Amino acid sequence: MKIAILGGGITGTTCAHRLSLQGHSVVLVEKGRGVGGRMSTRRMGGARIDHGAQFLTVRDQRMKEYILKWKQSEVIMAWYDRIPDREDLPVGTRYRGTQGMNSPVKCLAESLAVEKQFFVESIERKDQWFIRERAGLGRNLRADHVVVTFPVPQVLELFQRSCFSLDPQTMQKLRAVRYTRCLALLGLLEGSSALENPGTLTHPVPEVDWISDNMTKGISEQPACTVHASSCYSEKFWDAPDEERIPLMIKVAEEYLNSRITQWSSHRWGFAKPLVTFGDSHFHSLEEGVSLAGDGFGGERIENAFLSGWEVAESILSSVGQNLNR
Ligand SMILES: Cc1cc2nc3c(=O)[nH]c(=O)nc-3n(C[C@H](O)[C@H](O)[C@H](O)COP(=O)(O)OP(=O)(O)OC[C@H]3O[C@@H](n4cnc5c(N)ncnc54)[C@H](O)[C@@H]3O)c2cc1C
Repeated sequence: MKIAILGGGITGTTCAHRLSLQGHSVVLVEKGRGVGGRMSTRRMGGARIDHGAQFLTVRDQRMKEYILKWKQSEVIMAWYDRIPDREDLPVGTRYRGTQGMNSPVKCLAESLAVEKQFFVESIERKDQWFIRERAGLGRNLRADHVVVTFPVPQVLELFQRSCFSLDPQTMQKLRAVRYTRCLALLGLLEGSSALENPGTLTHPVPEVDWISDNMTKGISEQPACTVHASSCYSEKFWDAPDEERIPLMIKVAEEYLNSRITQWSSHRWGFAKPLVTFGDSHFHSLEEGVSLAGDGFGGERIENAFLSGWEVAESILSSVGQNLNR
């Protein structure tokens, strides 16, 4: 069976990887220049900066097995398990990618067919699915089954553009999914920051959730920071111009890092973390030829997105198996 997996974050790459291990022909379709999604790592003036997710934690045995393999092949490494003087934070190993947070996603995608810079404009089902690219190279793909792993509001936009919908109850559950938003600032630092190992600070002021120095973290040869605003501040200044919302983030970062930011860029994460989820780890219908997965289903955290990708692949494998046995 030819399966198109739309979205190259941790959910899509996990699903594609599991299905390809079982001999299915898969193609991963991603609008960005590379895989990673919200686990993206950016280059800026020679520095490497984790842009969205900062670390991953693991509890489930299925992911522990991947963590072990990734550790052995130096795709990830333990970053820290506690921050000195922060007894309020949970203790437990936080892992980071050795070359940034997109390392494990890139590793999963290594042996897969990936269509990059392919914005999926619409999907249409005739004898097979037709997956059409918006502008760009005008690519058209065909598949027997599609798995959509975008954040849920973007799934709904795709459905609307495609004049496609699922049963009313499923559509209602999809429409109820909500995410937080997050303003991010990435900056180059004039010199080493004042942050000691592990190079991160959480909630220094109510407006800021996270500051890290990617050099102290170990992924950048140059000092460079990531700053994530709190969801409250992000909501308040979402539509404000950079001149209004960024100065406070720069001021707080420079004060706590004790280094000047010499160059910066800002980003708006419209779907940072799910607040209300679908209620099941994924959706799957062999009759409709569609499956859906992602953190909007599995829940907050990379591990839950990974497990959503894993479980949707299992559902596809078992329903295809049952169909063949009929
Ligand atoms: C600022 C921030 C900080 C976070 N911090 C942490 C953390 O420290 N630890 C943690 O565990 N989790 C964290 N998270 C959450 C974590 O990043 C996500 O739960 C996880 O990465 C979601 O993966 P996903 O594959 O489900 O979605 P995504 O990573 O969003 O993947 C979906 C993909 O679909 C693609 N796409 C969308 N529309 C289209 C289209 N029309 N055509 C083609 N492709 C399309 C996108 O480009 C994207 O690559 C954070 C998230 C954010 C934003």
